[in-house]
Amino acid sequence: MDNTEFSKKIIVAIDGYSSSGKSTMARELAARVGYVYVDSGAMYRAVTLYAIRNNMVDPDKKIKTAELVAALPDIHISFLPSGDDGIQHTLLNGEDVEKLIRDMEVSNLVSPVAVIPEVRARLTAIQQEFGSHKGIVMDGRDIGTTVFPEAELKVFVCASPEERARRRLKEMQGKGENVTFDEVLHNVVERDRIDTTREVSPLRKADDALELDNGNMSPAEQMDWLIRRFNERCGL
Ligand code: C5P
Repeated sequence: MDNTEFSKKIIVAIDGYSSSGKSTMARELAARVGYVYVDSGAMYRAVTLYAIRNNMVDPDKKIKTAELVAALPDIHISFLPSGDDGIQHTLLNGEDVEKLIRDMEVSNLVSPVAVIPEVRARLTAIQQEFGSHKGIVMDGRDIGTTVFPEAELKVFVCASPEERARRRLKEMQGKGENVTFDEVLHNVVERDRIDTTREVSPLRKADDALELDNGNMSPAEQMDWLIRRFNERCGL
């Protein structure tokens, strides 16, 4: 019997900068406490992949906003709880696109897609629906500020851009991708710039979020910290 049966279910919002390790922490917390996990960044990435595949990106890398907004009703995003590698996979109109949405091409176009207010409104509504019964851990950029401003536990994760780029490079190379440190660092810094300066729901720490600088913490130390905060919020 897991201890969440004796306590109220809560919403956990984990926000922060690109490649700060949010998804790993969020996924592991959800698995440990028996909650649903949602990677909101994967949803923005899936919309971006749809735009690329349907010629909604100009040769100069500008998004054809009106066309993408008109197509939003045709874009259906869902999650497969456990793909061939045992972790959650993202489905775009029923197709497993987990690997494709992590490509550098998608990474370089996702922040410009995520500034489009209509895209944000649609994805925010779907995310709120996912959390309507609580018992959810969601990671992203605006979860504690816009999607679930009432979340019982909010965490804001940060580390230096170089440290984040190092971790992301290792992860991408582990998957056999051919990228350089400079490319990854540039992508991380550029996404942070667009995400923090956009007009709708910019990336920022919610006033009531706990800040976690994980630059010098091992994954186990981070989980320890997070589980303790979670138990406190659940009154355990
Ligand atoms: O989390 P991940 O790095 O995969 O997110 C990809 C991009 O999606 C971010 O850089 C950001 O532009 C966008 N995003 C967002 N709001 C969220 C989650 C992601 O704007 N809640």
